[in-house]
Amino acid sequence: MTEFELINCLTKDVCKKTQELKQGIGDDCAVFAGADHDWLITSDMLVENVHFDLAYTDFYLLGRKSLSVNLSDIAAMGGEPVFFTVNIAAPKQVSFEQIKELYKGLLDNAKESKVLLIGGDTSKSETGLIISITMLGKSFLPGPILRKGAKPGDLIYVTGELGSAALGLKCYQAGKACPNVKPFLERFANPKPRMEIGKSLGVNNLATAMIDVSDGLLADLGHIAESSEVGYYLQIEKLPLLESFQQVADELKLNQTDLALSGGEDYELVFTVSPNNKHSLENHKIEATHIGEITADSKSQIIVDKHGKKIDVKAKGYDHFH
Ligand code: ADP
Ligand code: MG
Repeated sequence: MTEFELINCLTKDVCKKTQELKQGIGDDCAVFAGADHDWLITSDMLVENVHFDLAYTDFYLLGRKSLSVNLSDIAAMGGEPVFFTVNIAAPKQVSFEQIKELYKGLLDNAKESKVLLIGGDTSKSETGLIISITMLGKSFLPGPILRKGAKPGDLIYVTGELGSAALGLKCYQAGKACPNVKPFLERFANPKPRMEIGKSLGVNNLATAMIDVSDGLLADLGHIAESSEVGYYLQIEKLPLLESFQQVADELKLNQTDLALSGGEDYELVFTVSPNNKHSLENHKIEATHIGEITADSKSQIIVDKHGKKIDVKAKGYDHFH
């Protein structure tokens, strides 16, 4: 059973919409109505030996990252983060100094991102270290950018570069620390969610659908396709990659296409735009790469190489239960 089958199975009888709840389970954030604007709420946790390994974890950066993964879900709705709570369960192997360092990273990130810590819970853990954050954000009129708004003919864009965090993790695991791997280690350990771009797309109502890339491009674009009941067409040669991506992937004997399509934790934004709004992206100085198109057939997920030849992709993204 995949992670998403499990969530669907556990929550299939839960109400997804009420007068106050505009969007329940099934998007990057839930959305509820407020007096002046909608509110967004999201929850994400980092679990030792699943999301991080203390063998190569810097506690300050772990604190920063635990906030960033939540900020990214607010960006993915086109919103602005406001408040958050932190639940932390720490085993006795983690010292007080290390937790203080983690909190320093968390609170530095919060200050830079203008979000306020408003509560939480603290416990010891008999297993690993767990950090779980719940974040509240504001949404702008005419409403948040959901996963379900993509239409056939819409253009697909992605911010930044793909696969960098996954390659960074592979570098950590292989003990590689030469200068050309530094940007990849950094992308894995200290992701920078696209807050400005997300908010600008939301304020200016430029995207028809959006999600952040936490589980890999194909998995996350797959959520847009499924929610919007559409298909997609992607061009491999358009996927944005960091300089030296190919060289480092080759050195580690990794397939760069698989990494770019399926590597998790980039925390970039994938969004769809009506062709009429293409120039508005430039007018609002939104930096993103056009990588494909939305198609009408919901069963069609086509990926082509530079010769227009369809390619088969094995891995579709990170899945906790696969
Ligand atoms: P994201 O990757 O954006 O954080 P997830 O893939 O974790 O989103 O979750 C997808 C949807 O399922 C979200 O609406 C999330 O709130 C919901 N969800 C995840 N786990 C649970 C759970 N255990 N119980 C209820 N809802 C859940
Ligand atoms: Mg998300």
